[in-house]
Amino acid sequence: MKIEAIRTYLLEHRLDTAFESASMRFDRRQHLLVEVICDNGQSGWGECLGPARANRAVAETYANWLVGMDPLETEKIWVVLYNALRDQGQRGLTVTALSGIDVALWDIKGKHFGVPVSTLLGGRFRDSVRAYATGAFKRDGVDRVSDNAEEASRHKADGFEAMKIKIGFGVDEDLAVIRAVRKAMGDDMRLMIDGNHGYDTVEAIRLGRAAAEYDIDWFEEPVTPEHLSAYREIRAKQPIPVAGGETWHTRWGMREPVETRAVDILQPDLCGCGGFTEMRRIADLAALHNIRVVPHVWGTAVQIAASLQFIAAMVPNPVRVNPVEPILEFDRTDNPFRQAVVTKPIDHHNGVVTIPDAPGLGIEINRAALEEFAPREDT
Ligand code: CA
Repeated sequence: MKIEAIRTYLLEHRLDTAFESASMRFDRRQHLLVEVICDNGQSGWGECLGPARANRAVAETYANWLVGMDPLETEKIWVVLYNALRDQGQRGLTVTALSGIDVALWDIKGKHFGVPVSTLLGGRFRDSVRAYATGAFKRDGVDRVSDNAEEASRHKADGFEAMKIKIGFGVDEDLAVIRAVRKAMGDDMRLMIDGNHGYDTVEAIRLGRAAAEYDIDWFEEPVTPEHLSAYREIRAKQPIPVAGGETWHTRWGMREPVETRAVDILQPDLCGCGGFTEMRRIADLAALHNIRVVPHVWGTAVQIAASLQFIAAMVPNPVRVNPVEPILEFDRTDNPFRQAVVTKPIDHHNGVVTIPDAPGLGIEINRAALEEFAPREDT
């Protein structure tokens, strides 16, 4: 079996109501899927985290090396592609594009051997996982405090036991949101806060100290990801566990945050950090330092399915009768193609998601949806 071609699919939907995190405004949803096609007709699917058109350009550049290689040789391909753009790469788009290709190769490998990727990774420790609802952005034209509180009530009614909200807009307003959300969800739901690197160090420490009384599971991306010493200071000076990692790529990008304990919880993104091949090494690195891993997930059902396969194979830790179970990030914001791209949507029931056990990623792509959500004009 040899790789014959790589095809990319840009998906886009313009939102009726734009929303914002502290660092980004979304007036549309845009994601990139990657299909690696083999000479025997087999194909595999991946997804790249980040700006879709830029990822597409890099992924298509990788085709120069990829075509003709054996898709089962995932480690070899990873090294060849990484080396090809290393001198101008090492992190960022060169790695996010490589991630999508690597995920597609593991999908092919699973289909080839007739087993789910989780089995290839070493075995399924679980067949389902609890999900937490990600949402509560700042939406245009609505009061953020009451909007986020209403959303919390909705997730609770849907059966979610955990939810993450967006902060990083300003300490006082953020505290008002946290207070209102905690009141709306009650004491029995877990609450996480995500700063999307919107604060400076002083603000993050002040927010963390004041928000701790609302029982926060973790404080994600308090400051910009380059500032690891600030992460360490925030960990030391406020009581909420600090999380981060969605913008750090490869084992080299994760090494300093892990070895210097810049975070309590590491959040590598499977479709950004280097795919399954690299995510395994990152999980091992975190385990060596007893740092908890909670994968970051933001994308379509392809990324969700891939993340589920990884989560299924995560080694239980700590070793006790009821270890700390992994948790799946489950985006609840507006995105009509998130589940439309697969023939069987990956949904939750009372906040629990079943992990597919069909070969590869365990999904089938709905090609009609790829057509439907292709941008009409390539702008
Ligand atoms: Ca985040």
